[in-house]
Amino acid sequence: MTNPNVITLIAPLSGPLVPLERVPDPVFAQKMVGDGISIDPLDQCLRAPCDGQIVQLHSAGHAVTVATSQGIEVLMHIGLDTVNLKGQGFSSTVKMGDVVKTGDPLIEFDADYVATHAKSLLTQIVITNSDRVAAFAPRSGNVAAGKSAILELTLTGAAQANTDADAGKTVTSEAILIPNPTGLHARPAAVLANLAKKFKADVRLQKGDQVANAKSVVSIMGLEIGNGDKVTLIAKGDDADAAVETLTPLLWEGLGDEGCKPAPAPASFEPSPGNAPAPRARSEDPNLLIGVAASPGLAVGEVFQIRHQEIQVNESAAGTPQQERDRLDRAVDQGRAQLEALQASLHGQRAADKAAIFAAHQELLDDPDLLDIAHSALAKGKSAEFAWHRAFSTHADRLASLRNELLAARANDLRDVGRRVLTLLTGVEPERQTPPTNAILVAEELSPSDTASLDRSRVRGFCTTLGGATSHVAILARSLDIPAVAGIEPRALELANGTPVVLDGGKGIVRLNPSPEEITRIRETQERMAARRKAELEVAHEPAITLDGHRMEVVGNIGGLAEAEQIAGLGGEGVGLLRSEFVFLERSSAPSEDEQFEIYKAIVEALGPDRPLIIRTLDVGGDKPLVYLPIPKEENPFLGERGLRIGLDRPEILRLQLRAILRAAAYGKVRVMFPMVGLLSELRDAKAMLEEERQRLNAAPIETGIMVEIPAAAIMAAQFAREVDFFSIGTNDLTQYTLAMDRGHPKLAPKVDGLNPSILRLIAWTVKAAHDEGKWVGVCGGIASDPQAVPLLIGLGVDELSVSLPTIPSIKAQIRTLWLHECQELAQRALALETAAEVRMATSASAP
Ligand code: PEP
Ligand code: MG
Repeated sequence: MTNPNVITLIAPLSGPLVPLERVPDPVFAQKMVGDGISIDPLDQCLRAPCDGQIVQLHSAGHAVTVATSQGIEVLMHIGLDTVNLKGQGFSSTVKMGDVVKTGDPLIEFDADYVATHAKSLLTQIVITNSDRVAAFAPRSGNVAAGKSAILELTLTGAAQANTDADAGKTVTSEAILIPNPTGLHARPAAVLANLAKKFKADVRLQKGDQVANAKSVVSIMGLEIGNGDKVTLIAKGDDADAAVETLTPLLWEGLGDEGCKPAPAPASFEPSPGNAPAPRARSEDPNLLIGVAASPGLAVGEVFQIRHQEIQVNESAAGTPQQERDRLDRAVDQGRAQLEALQASLHGQRAADKAAIFAAHQELLDDPDLLDIAHSALAKGKSAEFAWHRAFSTHADRLASLRNELLAARANDLRDVGRRVLTLLTGVEPERQTPPTNAILVAEELSPSDTASLDRSRVRGFCTTLGGATSHVAILARSLDIPAVAGIEPRALELANGTPVVLDGGKGIVRLNPSPEEITRIRETQERMAARRKAELEVAHEPAITLDGHRMEVVGNIGGLAEAEQIAGLGGEGVGLLRSEFVFLERSSAPSEDEQFEIYKAIVEALGPDRPLIIRTLDVGGDKPLVYLPIPKEENPFLGERGLRIGLDRPEILRLQLRAILRAAAYGKVRVMFPMVGLLSELRDAKAMLEEERQRLNAAPIETGIMVEIPAAAIMAAQFAREVDFFSIGTNDLTQYTLAMDRGHPKLAPKVDGLNPSILRLIAWTVKAAHDEGKWVGVCGGIASDPQAVPLLIGLGVDELSVSLPTIPSIKAQIRTLWLHECQELAQRALALETAAEVRMATSASAP
């Protein structure tokens, strides 16, 4: 007769058994999820280890729980860190609620894929309510799926009831945003359940209208809580207060999950070490401060320190929660109206790009999460000011801690909008400081609102200790033509008002105490440069032909419509690179085919019928994440899923984009280009998709090229050249991959130089291979805009330079001063040199 208090689990997979303690994951090894055993699988179908019912099935398909008739929950977790695979490689054959028999198939998986994409294939079988088990008797050795016993469980007897839970008060936490990159998957769920179990109170976790027992891993996982999801803790019982107080900050911090950006304590602007900015260069010269170039130009003037006044707020409400909510709603409405007025006036000044920044601010005001956090604080008796301050500063701090510089830069926008509404709520206007004429502003951070309203008759330039070249402030500074340096050394904040300085926005430096002679020299240089820019712009529409008659195409790199509209005026002969990932960067959902088509069509039309447009398909991953296209966390994102690899892996995204491009091609000269191509098979697969979509749409064929930015593509250029219409060399990535140096690494930055002879050799090789096949080659990486590189690229035989927009007139002017044969001799000399520094010396020495 079988003993109902003993359960024998049968192997769900074939393979050697591994003690749970040996699993290389502390949460399983330390039995935080529960006690059990692990199998190193030799087959690819996970089977039921006992009779029971499916009570949890993760949407990523890598984990399933079967509950026995005695209520024992057996969780099976295939592989380690497999939640990151987001379902790829798994296919479940059961659904929630199904009744299963021992040996029934539950999940089929592609062992090769999982083994190569996850940390390990080891599959854990654990009892998540191990407190119901008095003794575990694991087996060892090799087991056969559906046949061999793996674990014998002796049950404790009666189910445990939480007697204290029914009594006592109910305490609810504030809304908590989950910072864990992959949400509350098995590991953080186990940590939370273990922590919750330390309290007698009944603890529940609520997401939307679903509620889970926070002491049950299975129940928590059943909520499928993702990154950024909003949850609330509800505790009932004598120690409910303590449970909510203890667990809330731990949830905000990510429950110790790796890769989690802890959300700093709300309502605090103190930077935590976790979100400290990347280390920046420091100068040893007391008269030199180093930052990053944010907006080019030289400015001479005197320091004027700008400080943001912190508006003090009372924590507790004077009125009822409803009254406070009404006050907040009114202030938000007023803020919205102010932003609308600001946009209208900027549109009136034909400054659509600046208006767009404030349109984005208006959208921030409508963010439901922001308002939810504020509302949940109001419900707890906080004042409207306090609740709003907490909501926007929490969100802003979280954004600021992201590694993605573009998203981190949005933190400043959020604080700007936040302060606008806070001013309206408190009636406290920040004191306006009037700078002297010739002012160089120094601040920790300037908001976009501050920047847009700078008095150009007084302010010559500015520098901030925070922020980067991609912030809206930097964008505004460039469009206002104000020289600016971001990320300057913090000692800038200690400079006395009136200190004479020279700010070089192009080099990203500030020089202190220049001599009167230096100031005169700079002013003269400025006048000369302004005159030169004017002259270059006047002839910018003329072609760029060397003194001996060799024509170079000079086109621009753009990120959207606003820049496309500037191309013709600057003398650009087309677009050599539309970074399509930038067009939709700030969207939270994927653009539809029609939306993409409309924007590409608008860009084509802005360029006119004669200027070609090269649209590069989405190049996300690495340093360019897209909010609506989450990519599993990877050890080496630059070497992982990025560029075309993502498009091939998720063909529906690539196909949709290709259709939009093919449709837009009917309106002008459109070419398509694939990023991050390393293998011929990748190119062939992408081209096959393009052709299938073209036939489906009955569209005309379209010129097709690739970015040459992976060394393999350059080395195999002869093979690739037969299958493309053109190459565009992405020297930013080609340099990073050839030198194996991260292009954004603060310490390595000076060495990541595209003029390194190794890169020049790859360019020479690529050009020769393309020309042998009658194909043309462009360069769209940063060196195409570098005057020292231009003669070399011409000499190496490059046909087209795709440069940053402001440099189009000057690069064209430079080409008109060069002799092709001299460029060719210089290129040959450079190829024989040993270092980038030597190449730079050689090219400077040969400058006319
Ligand atoms: C490059 O890698 O040189 C390039 C132009 O592409 P991106 O900078 O967008 O990666
Ligand atoms: Mg690139």
